[in-house]
Amino acid sequence: MNRIIVQKFGGTSVADTDKIKNVAKIVIREKENGNDVVVVVSAMGHTTDYLVKMAKDLTTTPSEREMDMLLSTGEGVSIALLAMAIQSQGYDAISYNAIQAGIYTENIHSKARITDIKTDKIKSQLAQGKIVVVAGFQGMTEDYEITTLGRGGSDTSAVALAAALNATRCDIYTDVEGVYTTDPRIVPKASRLEEISYDEMLELAHAGANVLHPRSVETAKHSNVQMRVRSSFNLNNLGTLITGVEKMEIYKPVTGVAADLSQARIVVCNVPDRPGVAAKIFSCLADKKISVDMIIQSYARKISNTNDIAFTVNGCDLDKTLETLDELKTELNSDEVEVDTDIAKVSIVGAGMIDRPGIASKMFETFAKQGINIKMISTSEIKISCLVNKEDAKRAVQALHDVFELNSDVVADVKGTLPDV
Ligand code: ADP
Ligand code: ASP
Ligand code: MG
Repeated sequence: MNRIIVQKFGGTSVADTDKIKNVAKIVIREKENGNDVVVVVSAMGHTTDYLVKMAKDLTTTPSEREMDMLLSTGEGVSIALLAMAIQSQGYDAISYNAIQAGIYTENIHSKARITDIKTDKIKSQLAQGKIVVVAGFQGMTEDYEITTLGRGGSDTSAVALAAALNATRCDIYTDVEGVYTTDPRIVPKASRLEEISYDEMLELAHAGANVLHPRSVETAKHSNVQMRVRSSFNLNNLGTLITGVEKMEIYKPVTGVAADLSQARIVVCNVPDRPGVAAKIFSCLADKKISVDMIIQSYARKISNTNDIAFTVNGCDLDKTLETLDELKTELNSDEVEVDTDIAKVSIVGAGMIDRPGIASKMFETFAKQGINIKMISTSEIKISCLVNKEDAKRAVQALHDVFELNSDVVADVKGTLPDV
């Protein structure tokens, strides 16, 4: 049996037909190495952003089901075009959407998790010598409803397929040459990492390093998938290996810096200081599949016997969160809710910070020197995150990158442009 390699190409890599021809060459090269190849592709360029914009032009509250129907069409275009490009080079290829590829998800829209992949059809096509091109980002429920995995979710499609097919490798091709110490669009002299552990990558991805969808790293770690991030535009560079092995001794306390500008902070004021209040709020949010990130509860005020609970959610869940809190206001005896969308979460991540005192203070001192106010702080064993004003995020990342000595001598090569929608 041949080795199976899963390759994933993001939007920039398939942005136009010339780029699709380039992708076809990379795919064929892997096939010529004697491997079976499964390719996962995203929608072309900024297609998904334009589809979102069109929906928003029609309604401020599009139904989640119809949004999934709409957004899943983007990947449908790129799979067919890539299969044609491969065929035109004389190789056998077939494109599959999520239904044909057997990608099953939970029955929720806009951020469904993959529950199972029935690989029989893909395997039978591979056995016939075909290159199988699969639509990323999409899934289906048991009753054939179309779902999507969340923005950036094609990475997760690719890793889940690699796990289900027991693939030798999952290569994520993108518009930068690997994982860097921070977004090279913010710090052009960011350093490319030769390798990074699953745990550090997971924290970085959750902290806003959108080079990888966090759930792709989670899946790779869980199923031990060998994952590499590399450039579609420079094949001489092998990029970054995401691996389960930590370096024996870690000399730098911080591996990377990230910023997430998509969060919103909510403060539920004057809630009664009694057992069950936090459980009520967060279980109701969980029932609606709203993920909460940072949480802070203030000290109880003795006179009123109340406190405040502050937390952050992704901006796309803000309306649903406020609706949920509104439904709870009588029960919580609190009708004062403050919302702040002018925030960014800036994080430093590194396995090297374990048992190394002084890292948090160095981060806070850096902010103090820059005159950047910290609105909220949270920590994990290998991450420290601070909420700051949005306008301070870029400066905060640049200063932290500098202070923790992460700069390289060369300017990173970044191919794509940011969407102007
Ligand atoms: P694709 O369309 O290929 O999925 P994405 O735009 O989702 O590409 O991810 C690649 C982008 O991620 C890069 O262009 C870069 O701006 C951004 N990025 C953010 N943090 C990092 C990081 N630490 N290392 C590399 N790229 C990063
Ligand atoms: N096309 C989807 C998006 O833009 C999925 C992806 O690119 O991974 O979010
Ligand atoms: Mg992506």
